Parts: sequence; structure tokens; C-alpha cells
Amino acid sequence: MPGFIKPTTLVRKAEVAVRQAVGAPVPADPRRGYTDTMEVISPQLLIGYKKQPSAQHYPSDTMKSAAAEATRLAARIVRKANDEFAGIMMLRRKESALMQDVLDKHFGLIAGDTAGGYLKDNIVDKKFSFRAVAEKDRRWVLEKIRQNMLSLSFHLNTGVYLIDIDASRRDIKVGADFNPATASQNEEAYVGHTKTKYDATSWRATNWKAVTNSISGFRKGEMHVSFEMLENYSPISYARVIIHEATHKYLCTADEAYAHENTYGTLSLTQALNNADSYAWAAVSLYCGAVKMGSPNDVNPDWAQCS
Ligand SMILES: [Zn+2]
Repeated sequence: MPGFIKPTTLVRKAEVAVRQAVGAPVPADPRRGYTDTMEVISPQLLIGYKKQPSAQHYPSDTMKSAAAEATRLAARIVRKANDEFAGIMMLRRKESALMQDVLDKHFGLIAGDTAGGYLKDNIVDKKFSFRAVAEKDRRWVLEKIRQNMLSLSFHLNTGVYLIDIDASRRDIKVGADFNPATASQNEEAYVGHTKTKYDATSWRATNWKAVTNSISGFRKGEMHVSFEMLENYSPISYARVIIHEATHKYLCTADEAYAHENTYGTLSLTQALNNADSYAWAAVSLYCGAVKMGSPNDVNPDWAQCS
């Protein structure tokens, strides 16, 4: 399917044309963007990128299909996670051993531990009582995660918009001129001001700016991914990156710690409930049927995941 010109680009072009036609000065574009083209890749995926001369074949068909496959897989992974939580919360299914392990490793929710008195109790498969319904207990935590997984699943299954980072060519950034030679070439994805970056020795967040008033995914900014870098990831790693970014956009999570950092295991329950990687890796783990996570000793962005 051919790409089409971004509406904001069209509006700007029309304004410039009208002003030129009547001999009026053309003011600088206050919302100047780098990307100018949108393309529907699949029923779930709309992408934005800067159209290059056709001889460059950029973004390539492989980049587009990798993004489409990862988006499809991300939706499937989170739908499965949502089903698992819904089964426990709504059908009162027992927590599987895997679920208990996932909650322990990715949310620091360890059976019997009250998170320093934050929870009234923390009992796996606690017997139902009306009195416990209003309590801050283990089920209260699971219900919070379930609602977040449901919201994520809804958004990922409805469709996502991914904008290409295009680090090696992007010459406009946040509305201003930018020299691509100075761009970081190892940024895999970000939403708004949140960034996930990969370099030879570490993963880290840069230029973090908290968005505190954000209740809507729109105010948080769009999901940006590097088509060039992620093309080489396994589909499930690519999907994990999309899920991670989607939690920033739709759940307003922060990067309290990445799963491959030593501090990950020390996050408090409240931090983990607000941590992008916790949701992404928990969902991947439930999908794979085993606890998965990045490791501090291994900076390979693919890590050991299932297919
Ligand atoms: Zn992040």
C-alpha cells in the first residue's frame, strides 16, 4: 500500500501555498516535523517516516514487515497475559506456579511479603470474603496489573502508530534543526521524552523528563522506534520493545529500572507497578511459559527468549 502525506505536512504545504499566492510572508513552521509520510502496513499498524528518494528503498519492505510482525506479536502476547490475569480475578482460577514466579521476579510481589506493611496481607489464592474486597492485599495488586494489561491489550489490538526514529538521517528534532552526525545511533525506541538506549556496555535512559500531568496517551507523545535497529531483533524482542513503549504511552509508566539492571530486583512494589519493563517482561514471560528477563551480564538485546 502506498504511503500518504502526513496531515500536518499537508496543512503546512497548503498554508505556504496560499501565502505565496497572495504574496504574504511565510512564517516559520511552529510545528515543524521530520517525518512527512504515513503508511498503513497492516490492520494493526500505521507508521510514520520521512519519505526518501525511491532509489534509497527506505524504509525497506523488510523493515516494514518486521514492524508489522512485531506489532501483531505484541498484541498477542499482551492478550495472553490479560487472559491469565482475568482468569484469576474473574473466574477465580488458582495462580499457576509460573504466575507466582512472574509476580515475584517482575513485580516484587512475593507470597507472604506485605511490602513493608503496604499490603494488609499477601496470600496466594486467598479464600474469598466480602470483607477482603476493599483490602489492599495480593488480589488488589493483581487487579491493578489486570486492568493495566487490559488497557494495553485494548490499545495494541486496536492498532498502533509507530514513528521511525531514523537516527542516521533525521535533521529536525523537536521542531529545530538537528545534525544527524551527532545523533545517538543506538536508541531503539522512546515515547515523548522517555528513551531506551542501547550501547556497547549498557542500556540506559537518557533525557528523562517526567510527564506528571499525563492522563491521556495523546499528551504523552507518540511511540518512536528505530526501524533500522529493530529490524534485526527477533520478533519477540521487537514485540517486547513495543509493549514497553506502549506502557509509557498508555499507562504513563516510568523507567524505574530495566530488567537487565541490578536495581531491577530491588524495586519496591509501587515502583514495579509503575515500571515499563516490569509489564513488558511479565507479559513475555507468561507468553513463553517461563520467567524471562534481561540480564546485567548480557547486553544482547535479544536475550534468551522463546520463539
Ligand atoms: Zn522506557
